[in-house]
Amino acid sequence: MDKRRFLKIAGAASAGTLLAPSLTFCTTEPKPKVETEIENTPFSPIIQAPLPYGYAALEPFIDAETMEIHYSKHHAGYTRKLNEALEMETAFQGKTVEGIFAELRDEEGHVVLRNNGGGYYNHNLYWQCMTPGSSGAPNGEIAEAINAAFGSYANFKDQFSEAAKTRFGSGWAWLSKDKVGGLFISSTPNQDNPLMSNLAEQPGMPLLGIDVWEHAYYLKHQNKRADYISAFFEVINWETVAARFAGV
Ligand code: MN
Repeated sequence: MDKRRFLKIAGAASAGTLLAPSLTFCTTEPKPKVETEIENTPFSPIIQAPLPYGYAALEPFIDAETMEIHYSKHHAGYTRKLNEALEMETAFQGKTVEGIFAELRDEEGHVVLRNNGGGYYNHNLYWQCMTPGSSGAPNGEIAEAINAAFGSYANFKDQFSEAAKTRFGSGWAWLSKDKVGGLFISSTPNQDNPLMSNLAEQPGMPLLGIDVWEHAYYLKHQNKRADYISAFFEVINWETVAARFAGV
């Protein structure tokens, strides 16, 4: 684990227990060791997955400045806020993020976990779904499954792109696997995803996701979301999609 990130997350995790109302920001206050704080925390802090390539690796399709802000600000922010929320939500502590998604309902008390849990998970998947060494198209079993579900790769590309283009406002478009192993395309608002089975119109296991929030493309493509979607297809990591389809 990256040492700086570990320290940062450890600090966020311990903040709630340290900031008692009477505590002043006294610099002589003895500080417990970070490692001890982690061990004493009643839940395991959620860690932002490392970016599997450099910020500039997806140029010219996804620009370095967008990548850096997206990963180090937006995704880091969702991760930090998820940890802060979990510190208060004792009922959800110790669960996997997928386990949390399965319990979320459309109620006020779940909004923070819904938004930041989704933001945390969706971006982890998004980074893994891209690579500078894209094969350009799926191969093997995932290619056969796409052909079976959509008729052809070209049809899949059209339908997935349409779902991404027509998601009003901020959200995501997905290729997912249903309970019996079939593929479907859907989109979700905000940071929702198909694992939120009480919230998604079509629940399932997401295999591929494209972020269509403006922060994902506005610096390079401005309002032209369709150009960004075309660029995304140039960097899809079909090996990740195939592994998720196979349940690896
Ligand atoms: Mn995003």
